[in-house]
Amino acid sequence: MNPDGPDWSGLAWVLKTDGTCPCCGMPSYDVFSKIYDRMFSESVIGPILPNAELNASQGDIQTEDFCRFGDDRFVRALLTLSIQGAAEPMRLILWASLSIPSFERYILWLGEGGETPDRMPRWLMTRTPFSADIELFWLVPRPGRRWSDLVAQPAPPFDKLQKNGLAPIDVKIFLEDTGHDIRRRR
Ligand SMILES: [Zn+2]
Repeated sequence: MNPDGPDWSGLAWVLKTDGTCPCCGMPSYDVFSKIYDRMFSESVIGPILPNAELNASQGDIQTEDFCRFGDDRFVRALLTLSIQGAAEPMRLILWASLSIPSFERYILWLGEGGETPDRMPRWLMTRTPFSADIELFWLVPRPGRRWSDLVAQPAPPFDKLQKNGLAPIDVKIFLEDTGHDIRRRR
């Protein structure tokens, strides 16, 4: 990195999979998985419950990784965005919609294993500073992993972002907006 340029050491640190946020000491895993941990606000659907509660109940519910709301179904999945000049990408956990049959198949596969489902075209439901609106993605199940991958379908602007990478300054601003000032040292 350019020695005369901005100090990105805090950014490099928070991006490391086993890193921590320089400002608050929160593990990177939590920094990025908690930013968009809700599909609906608590007043709409209640608190976030453990995943095991999903099959133990009926009706509207939001768990750590799943949401059932009326006829709508949502799961959290992993979006990996590279950052220009950085060794580590940003890994965001976002909400995507699923049809009821896909959702039920997916939950069954997560619980019991078996043949990995094909990638599924899914709408991304979480709006981030990097996405303008609801966008179409592939949800790609990964055996043995908690979150499936989100892969942009060939449509702007996300496919371009996923190919070209984010500007470091945008990631820094994004972290600041979500309460993590990486210039600050504890
Ligand atoms: Zn922090």
